[in-house]
Amino acid sequence: MGDKNVLVIGGGTAGLSAAVELANLGVHVELIEKSKFLGGHAIGYTCKAIENTCVKCGACMVEEKLQSAVFHPNINVLAASQVQNISQNNRFSANIRQESLVIDPEKCTNCGLCLNRCPMEGAILQGFSKNNHPFYAVNIKKCLYFKDRSCTICRDECPETAIDLDKKASEHTIEADAVLIAIGFQPFNPKDKPYGYGRFNNVVTGLDLERMLKQSGRVKKPSDNKLPQKIAFIQCVGSRDAKLNHLWCSKVCCGSALRMARLIKERQPKTEIAFFYMDVQTFGKDFEPFYREAQKDIRMIRAIPGDIYEMDDRRLKINFVNNSTHETKEEIVDLVVLSVGITPVEDIGTMSRIFKIGPDESGFLRTDHNGVFTAGTVQGPMSIPETIANSGSVAWKIKKYIDGLTIDD
Ligand SMILES: Cc1cc2nc3c(=O)[nH]c(=O)nc-3n(C[C@H](O)[C@H](O)[C@H](O)COP(=O)(O)OP(=O)(O)OC[C@H]3O[C@@H](n4cnc5c(N)ncnc54)[C@H](O)[C@@H]3O)c2cc1C
Repeated sequence: MGDKNVLVIGGGTAGLSAAVELANLGVHVELIEKSKFLGGHAIGYTCKAIENTCVKCGACMVEEKLQSAVFHPNINVLAASQVQNISQNNRFSANIRQESLVIDPEKCTNCGLCLNRCPMEGAILQGFSKNNHPFYAVNIKKCLYFKDRSCTICRDECPETAIDLDKKASEHTIEADAVLIAIGFQPFNPKDKPYGYGRFNNVVTGLDLERMLKQSGRVKKPSDNKLPQKIAFIQCVGSRDAKLNHLWCSKVCCGSALRMARLIKERQPKTEIAFFYMDVQTFGKDFEPFYREAQKDIRMIRAIPGDIYEMDDRRLKINFVNNSTHETKEEIVDLVVLSVGITPVEDIGTMSRIFKIGPDESGFLRTDHNGVFTAGTVQGPMSIPETIANSGSVAWKIKKYIDGLTIDD
């Protein structure tokens, strides 16, 4: 292994892919992830194969990167960690604060007893990938010990004595020759849209649906846990919206929603699906035939709904104007899925301040100057394969930079 060090901030698809690429090139990587688990948003996505045939959704690619990263001898992972400040002389020197992980990864065997015994719902968190070790984490916002010291069941019953509820946060200093910012995106929060998100239980986002499908393989109504008879997808929520000044297309939502819709039709064939859209953005040569197949099963409605009301029986009434006939219409469904778009992540502000670089006019961050690089959706909307390709190429630029070559060599 060489003596060069790269600090990668963010352990989603982009950070993991770049870390693995650099590590394979013999560079030592310190990977800092803010949350307790690696994998970012996409580790919560389900495989959307239809009739056991891959539809290239990319979900499995993230799992592969995660597995390669955690077992790579050149990569050191600090989960639940954030950069506090950073200085640059010849090298970067970063102060990192790591929250207490409570569960010792060296001792934990992922047996799950802590989750099974915990009396407080949501106090033991579970990752989406078993390659995250530990696969469990204590949520101090819900845990009774952190509230009033009234419960120590997980600590007392852990057969490996892996749980230390009094474990303190720690500080680390990392020296690096280059820094990669891969802090990803923030899904648009649709609570201010007139669609009832956060008010009506049966209005969910595309990310909620991804997780539901990954965890149980089925779609159920959150209100009563029963299968919905009719689902509506609404596209472009938070994207291509001049009122929000979000003029960009998020690029991934049409593909992701149509793949999930087809998966639901395969698993729950009696469910009717209506798909509200402006125009379908298809990318890649394989998507056209997939889309043609999708149209056989899914009712496509070219309109973006005005608002949604909840009826007494909790079904949802969607009002819209038909784009072709200009008639006002309504559609009544059991579940609405909002295809929320990709927006700039909040921590771009912190990164801009720490590294003295400004975001672009849409709020995303792109740089490859003075040893600071960005990769993945922190730069703007990208699919998983695009993120992996982008991160691979940025990793090569970083390697050239730390080897003293100009980036264009
Ligand atoms: C609804 C929806 C569905 C999608 N479906 C698909 C699909 O089917 N197929 C597809 O190809 N793409 C899909 N995408 C796109 C996909 O999610 C992205 O391509 C991918 O997640 C990008 O990875 P990333 O690493 O750039 O960002 P992220 O997944 O956001 O990962 C960023 C990571 O950085 C961490 N982080 C943030 N701030 C800090 C900080 N200050 N310090 C340390 N760590 C930090 C985060 O915790 C996170 O782990 C979808 C997107 C959306 C919104």
